[in-house]
Amino acid sequence: MNIGILGTGSVGRALAEGLSHVGHQVQIGTRDPDTTLARTQPDRFGNPAISAWLADHSEVRLVGFSEAAAAADLVVNATSGDVSLLALEAAGADNLRGKVLIDVSNPLDFSAGFPPTLFVKDTDSLGERIQRSFPETMVVKTLNTMNAGLMLNPGRLSAPSAVFVSGDSPDAKQTVTDLLATFGWEQIVDLGGIATARGVEMLMPMWLQVMNVQGGPEFNWAIVT
Ligand code: NAP
Repeated sequence: MNIGILGTGSVGRALAEGLSHVGHQVQIGTRDPDTTLARTQPDRFGNPAISAWLADHSEVRLVGFSEAAAAADLVVNATSGDVSLLALEAAGADNLRGKVLIDVSNPLDFSAGFPPTLFVKDTDSLGERIQRSFPETMVVKTLNTMNAGLMLNPGRLSAPSAVFVSGDSPDAKQTVTDLLATFGWEQIVDLGGIATARGVEMLMPMWLQVMNVQGGPEFNWAIVT
């Protein structure tokens, strides 16, 4: 598949690496490729400048948001939640129309420092906002409940764990489920329509607390019956 990943951070890089490794054609989207390539400092989470990462991943192209979406069969939103709607507008509704959009974003508000709060919750979600803004795109919220490094590497943990999918289109969820299964996900939990993105986005405060007591992000949720 041609896959356009919007976002140059930890998630964009982890997904681009994993997807291109199994043969997908991957383009990473950014606001302005020249500006992004000229950066020499690590990003806000300490990732090295993307130019260094691209040098080790020659199979991945860095392009503008709209080019990444236009060329794609499937698009991934891996941008900072507070600007995801802006990034998707830059990608362009025409370029997103009729496509599956995997939404990995979380509605985190870092304006008061760490830990972040949620800027939407309980009665709405970022996943729903995106779906409402792009009604002709099939939004599937998934993978937002774990650290980037685990998203396509579930076998790295000591036991099977869960990944959730939320979306209004059964066909789009099937496409995403099939894709996730190729990376070894077994416990793929279909929560229902896109409104169920509220629950998985509200896991974030709990995830951050668990990370503190675990001493790191290498863990995941599991459903045990
Ligand atoms: P991030 O630092 O949250 O986002 C980076 C991306 O946001 C960049 O591509 C950047 O564009 C874009 N961006 C920043 N300001 C923008 C603006 N004003 N307009 C348009 N785009 C803008 O990256 P991340 O840590 O990989 O996280 C991506 C998403 O996944 C977030 O929503 C996060 O909550 C969620 N998530 C992250 C993890 C994780 O392990 N990090 C796990 C689960 C979910 P440029 O490339 O142009 O700079």
